[in-house]
Amino acid sequence: MKILVALKRVVDYQVRVQVKPDGSGVAIDGVKMSINPFDEIALEEALRIRDAGKAEEVIAVTIGPQQAMQQLDSGLAMGANRGILVKTDKAIQPLTAARVLAQLVEKEQPGLVLLGKQAIDDDCNQTPQMLAALLDRPQATFASKVEIDGQSATVTREVDAGLETLSVDLPAVISTDLRLNTPRFIKLPDIMKAKSKPREVIELDSLGVESGDHLSYTRYEPPAQRQKGEMVADVPALVAALQAKGLI
Ligand code: AMP
Repeated sequence: MKILVALKRVVDYQVRVQVKPDGSGVAIDGVKMSINPFDEIALEEALRIRDAGKAEEVIAVTIGPQQAMQQLDSGLAMGANRGILVKTDKAIQPLTAARVLAQLVEKEQPGLVLLGKQAIDDDCNQTPQMLAALLDRPQATFASKVEIDGQSATVTREVDAGLETLSVDLPAVISTDLRLNTPRFIKLPDIMKAKSKPREVIELDSLGVESGDHLSYTRYEPPAQRQKGEMVADVPALVAALQAKGLI
């Protein structure tokens, strides 16, 4: 079995993002970029499944500019067998990402597609579900445990009421939640070893995927400044302060 893993290049989660002065987006010039954290978890899970002998190959895919090769390089250093960069300078929205991934699934025929539950830049949480719909294959979202049993996968999901366990037939699409695993650190020898791994570059335009914008973003705004806290001497003073603000 092959496993296809989608890795998105996003602003590193530790960067404090700044909204551009004209409100047209987030400033990313000179900012540290990384693999979307949920996608690192997806890749780690794929590597564990392969290393347990339940898959032969892990293919990492990213859709983005040439610079996204850095994230593919990291994915290969983590342990993916080969990488595919679908190259475009356009901003990619979830439906386009899902359509591109669906084409690669048709070509590669993986038994499992693993994605992050959401990209931390757009917080859309749409691509895995759209991909499953386009492929007409079972999906399990927000996985906190994945077990491959032959032709099916048992997936534990984090839902509001607690944990839900379901079984999906393979091939399936699974999106990963935070507690599924802790991704491994990349060591220097892994980076060296990854240099010789195959990397394929496909121009997005050559795929004939409809890649128009389906969403239009009207304005970005930084969150409101937090107001200064107020110290109160005791509980009666706290109650009085809350009453004065009309909060109780
Ligand atoms: P989203 O629907 O944008 O929140 O993204 C959910 C997941 O879809 C991400 O965690 C990635 O696994 C995958 N994905 C979305 N966009 C891309 C992209 N441009 N390249 C690779 N994977 C992507």
